[in-house]
Amino acid sequence: MSVNKEKYQEIIKYLDGKAKLIAVSKTKPADDIQVLYNLDHRDFGENYVQELIEKYSLLPRDIHWHFIGHLQSNKVKYIAPFVYLIHGVDSLSLLKEINKQALKNNRIIDCLLQIHIAKEETKFGLNSDELEVILTDDLTELNNIRICGLMGMASFSNNLGLVKLEFQYLKNLFKKYTPLSTAQCQMQILCMGMSADYKIALEEGSNTIRIGSLLFGERQYT
Ligand SMILES: *Cc1c(COP(=O)(O)O)cnc(C)c1O
Repeated sequence: MSVNKEKYQEIIKYLDGKAKLIAVSKTKPADDIQVLYNLDHRDFGENYVQELIEKYSLLPRDIHWHFIGHLQSNKVKYIAPFVYLIHGVDSLSLLKEINKQALKNNRIIDCLLQIHIAKEETKFGLNSDELEVILTDDLTELNNIRICGLMGMASFSNNLGLVKLEFQYLKNLFKKYTPLSTAQCQMQILCMGMSADYKIALEEGSNTIRIGSLLFGERQYT
């Protein structure tokens, strides 16, 4: 019993329909995903392209696959046929490659721009200037992508005050660009909050959380 169904129900109840839960299943077997699928859960997040492709081939076709890891341009083509939302977009060149592969697949692919909000160096993402540059660039050629919102990861820290400030920073950026509404960009999704900090994220206005270890147990990396 590695999937915590009680925790799942508890989180769903806590969200009360006001925010969406993405179950982060990276490193976990397809069988674990099936357990939540059988409870009618459809949104799952994966970080690694190869692993995502394998799970996609094994599991029901109506799953919404969220790619939440760092995506390399040369791997976009493998997930473009089926990915539901790409979270970690952090450059215009990646956006262009997603557009190209989406066009080949005759799809529009939804994307989130990842913002660097943590104090740590290791986390990917755009700063506010880079975000401004992308959003004010001429995106009209990119007819096969849609920027649907922003995502960010707070510092991995016990300093809840710091985490809160980082989420507030992201929320303010989200609000700033919400009035911007073009065919290629409509800010609707504010994706922040993980197992350790999702309650703070929700207080700060998150409408989509990404939860892994609370649902599937701690991950083991080899
Ligand atoms: C792994 C991961 C998560 C889930 O982390 P937990 O702390 O296990 O909930 C969420 N978001 C991203 C981007 C991740 O890489």
